[in-house]
Amino acid sequence: MAGGNDSLSWFKERIKRPKAVIDISGIAALKGVRETPDGIEIGALTTLTEIERNPVIRAKYRVLADAARRVASPQIRNTGTMGGNLAQDARCWYYRYGLPCYRAGGNTCFADTPEGVNREHALFDADRCVAVNPSDTAPALVALDAKMVIKGSKGERVVSSDEFFIGPKTDITRLTSVKPEEILTAVRIPNSWAGARFYFEKVSDRDTWDFALVNVAAAIVVNNGVVERSRVASGGVSAVPRRLTVVEEVIQGKPAEEATAKLAGQAAIRGARPLNYNQFKVPLMANLVTRAVRDAA
Ligand SMILES: Cc1cc2nc3c(=O)[nH]c(=O)nc-3n(C[C@H](O)[C@H](O)[C@H](O)COP(=O)(O)OP(=O)(O)OC[C@H]3O[C@@H](n4cnc5c(N)ncnc54)[C@H](O)[C@@H]3O)c2cc1C
Ligand code: SF4
Repeated sequence: MAGGNDSLSWFKERIKRPKAVIDISGIAALKGVRETPDGIEIGALTTLTEIERNPVIRAKYRVLADAARRVASPQIRNTGTMGGNLAQDARCWYYRYGLPCYRAGGNTCFADTPEGVNREHALFDADRCVAVNPSDTAPALVALDAKMVIKGSKGERVVSSDEFFIGPKTDITRLTSVKPEEILTAVRIPNSWAGARFYFEKVSDRDTWDFALVNVAAAIVVNNGVVERSRVASGGVSAVPRRLTVVEEVIQGKPAEEATAKLAGQAAIRGARPLNYNQFKVPLMANLVTRAVRDAA
């Protein structure tokens, strides 16, 4: 447990009953943002408020500050940590009410049924479970090509943001590749995207204190009016923050103009498989990606 914003609600409802809880919030070495020769390193216990306000993040990697600023409420951002935001559990209400679904070790999905309440659920890559990754900072870190530092008793490993988040096909009980005996200690952001044009937008039912229905994060480098390279990711649409490589390929080498932005929006939703009540997410995602490319480019 770090800030406890997610953990404590599970304990309070008696849905998760761990035999022991280890409070890591006092480990000073895991706090703060440090500049390194290659970029920056953010300790896993750095709060979302610190990330939102850090001058280096705001100057060079603004998409992350913008995403952190859109998480929950000021009170939650003051105690909620980078690690907790990335490792928080799924927000599917059936699961959180303690029903024995696939993710909880059972053999059914209550959301993926004709009458299931699934307007907040996935458009892509579902495998038994249709829950999405709820983190707002996750797509921003994918857009920044961040690396996650994971430590356990067997040593340290560093994984890319593309590998850090995992879907139900890999392991239906976890949303990240952090194994039970490990913790995330830091997030490293390389300077290869420092100063790129950035965009973050989140749409939720309410303007405050609410999870994303869909969010989008983009880092785009434009040279002489042409898109040189980009990384674009979207949250709220699959169990992992979905890297939109098809969008990146479609816009590369194209003029930074309206037609390219529209193309990007259409490319983003290719292969979407909406459920009964989340079909609205398809045009929403297309519009957000169009806006991201239009604005950032
Ligand atoms: C009312 C409400 C609204 C919210 N709205 C949003 C929102 O809009 N957007 C959004 O992104 N999030 C939202 N959240 C989620 C919240 O932002 C995150 O839960 C918060 O950032 C978690 O941080 P924490 O340090 O409090 O995590 P904790 O509750 O301490 O931990 C959460 C999980 O992460 C694990 N964990 C924590 N640190 C580490 C680590 N270093 N290594 C490995 N595992 C770790 C814990 O074991 C636990 O499973 C909301 C939460 C609430 C309660
Ligand atoms: S979407 Fe996933 S978490 Fe929700 S009921 Fe289905 S299996 Fe459980």
